[in-house]
Amino acid sequence: MGKVTGFLEYERLEEGYEPVAQRLKNWKEFVVGLNAEQAKQQGARCMDCGTPFCNSGCPVNNIIPDFNDLVYRGTPADWRQAIEVLHQTNNFPEFTGRVCPAPCEAACTLNVNDDAVGIKSIEHAIIDRAWAEGWVKPQPAAAGTGKKVAVVGSGPAGLAAAQQLARAGHAVTVFEKNSRAGGLLRYGIPDFKMEKSHIDRRVEQMKAEGVSFRTGVLVGAMPKEGPASRVTNDAKETIGADQVKAEFDAVLLTGGAESSRDLPVPGRDLDGVHFAMEFLPQQNKVVAGDKVKPQIRADGKHVIVIGGGDTGSDCVGTSNRHGAASVTQFELMPMPPEQEDKPLVWPYWPVKLRTSSSHEEGCERTFAIATKEFIAGTGKDKGRVVGLKTVQVQWQGGKMTEVPGSEKEWKADLVLLAMGFVSPLGTVLEAFGVDKDARGNAKAHTEATGGYKTNAEKVFAAGDMRRGQSLVVWAIREGRQAARAVDEYLMGASDLPR
Ligand SMILES: Cc1cc2nc3c(=O)[nH]c(=O)nc-3n(C[C@H](O)[C@H](O)[C@H](O)COP(=O)(O)OP(=O)(O)OC[C@H]3O[C@@H](n4cnc5c(N)ncnc54)[C@H](O)[C@@H]3O)c2cc1C
Ligand code: SF4
Repeated sequence: MGKVTGFLEYERLEEGYEPVAQRLKNWKEFVVGLNAEQAKQQGARCMDCGTPFCNSGCPVNNIIPDFNDLVYRGTPADWRQAIEVLHQTNNFPEFTGRVCPAPCEAACTLNVNDDAVGIKSIEHAIIDRAWAEGWVKPQPAAAGTGKKVAVVGSGPAGLAAAQQLARAGHAVTVFEKNSRAGGLLRYGIPDFKMEKSHIDRRVEQMKAEGVSFRTGVLVGAMPKEGPASRVTNDAKETIGADQVKAEFDAVLLTGGAESSRDLPVPGRDLDGVHFAMEFLPQQNKVVAGDKVKPQIRADGKHVIVIGGGDTGSDCVGTSNRHGAASVTQFELMPMPPEQEDKPLVWPYWPVKLRTSSSHEEGCERTFAIATKEFIAGTGKDKGRVVGLKTVQVQWQGGKMTEVPGSEKEWKADLVLLAMGFVSPLGTVLEAFGVDKDARGNAKAHTEATGGYKTNAEKVFAAGDMRRGQSLVVWAIREGRQAARAVDEYLMGASDLPR
């Protein structure tokens, strides 16, 4: 429970950031995590509230009060136990400790009238120390089951499921169309938010646990035309859905929700207008040492990012590291309040103005604005975007109307579309004969019995492919729960946690 009076004695302590001028010069992580003494103080603030809402606010249900208490106690044996507690519910705390938006903290009881315990920073400190001390080891199954499972897609959902299934004794093969494993952790989230060595280390651990990785292999088919055909695909080999079904006893589809939302206004086809997920993966590949030619670059350009979420924010940070002349971000919704009305929204995730570390590095943000047209250049700029036309909008009763006389033209040499994702690649689901829900996701519920199972024989689905665009922590949860469902399907019962 931490220290009885800790929440009265100590303030919330934020993790530090390296100065902007320094961090913009490279692609490395710049968050300075808590040291052991700082983590101890933060753990001391956990106040034994009786009903730990943080635990249900966390999608993987991390047992937060227990690891807070262990870190507060602070002996090496306590820290070692803390990572065991954390690993009981979360396969990859180093991912969530870096990129999770921490809904647990919104739900923290201390957050009702004070600042929440810095749960994410404690999680980050525990797993980084565990790796540094050599406490994270492969956990191969004691005996094999003789069953073979194919996992299609190596994002956090696929990785979590594969690790759980291998530990249950199944022979697991992960198929990934891109050249490296990790899904959006690898090719969406920039290195400055999460360096990719964290994924490599887990892949090595999983290989030692018996998981086989087949990267550069597409299962099923890619869309041949339309926006979805521009999704990153490094595959050098394609394997049919029927072949996978014939070779494996169960198949888990964790292919993500890769179809980006488009903005089909006049001028959309001009050079210089790109999906965020054309721009970001290229930079991550370059950081990894790949040759990408020609690379979409922002150097010296006036960049407009359309879309105010995480992906848009990552475009802002990447453009600033390229040396953009200016970066502007548009959001269709009105500016939310700076502070939420805590008694009204606690313990739920509040809508409020969120300023990311990328915004702090330089970005003009405009709210309640809609793009009407991309402007084509003339002369040497023929065929290229040189600007865009917008209008301010207002929202009433969920309806959007344009504000008369608010039309404006903006200079832009590079426009990045970061308006979210509409659905998974339909072709993969179709190849397996999987029914889709109304939003085009794989149709499967998440109840304990029959959960994650699609209509297709022996085929399961989890992560963004089932729930639609979401978060890393939700993908890990679904991967873990789907692993249990697959294990039950194969063995009649399962000891894996749900
Ligand atoms: C730019 C960006 C930034 C984000 N930032 C954050 C953040 O800070 N915090 C957070 O919590 N979430 C963030 N998210 C969301 C988060 O990354 C996703 O919700 C999460 O990765 C989904 O995991 P997944 O395993 O379901 O799918 P994905 O991570 O999308 O992985 C799916 C994988 O399946 C592969 N695949 C698909 N089809 C096939 C096929 N037919 N054959 C073989 N392989 C296939 C794909 O290549 C991909 O590697 C971000 C998303 C983006 C795009
Ligand atoms: S995974 Fe996310 S929600 Fe869960 S404890 Fe960590 S930061 Fe909080």
